[in-house]
Amino acid sequence: MSRLKIVEGGAKPKEYRKKSENDIDLLVCPECDSRASYDVTLGRHIRNGKPVGGNKQTRCANCDHVLWDW
Ligand SMILES: [Zn+2]
Repeated sequence: MSRLKIVEGGAKPKEYRKKSENDIDLLVCPECDSRASYDVTLGRHIRNGKPVGGNKQTRCANCDHVLWDW
């Protein structure tokens, strides 16, 4: 590992890898920079004694800012 090849005019920095559907990003609140979040479900109905439907949201655990509307 002691010898390094020097490539003339070469070595571009690696391109940022393409965004794929499996890409993982840290969810950070734009309001308060918190990385803690929780999921809530709004407007659920009860059908046959079981909760159905509703609207899922992910909110900041610190300031309640809506981070994600599903
Ligand atoms: Zn926040």
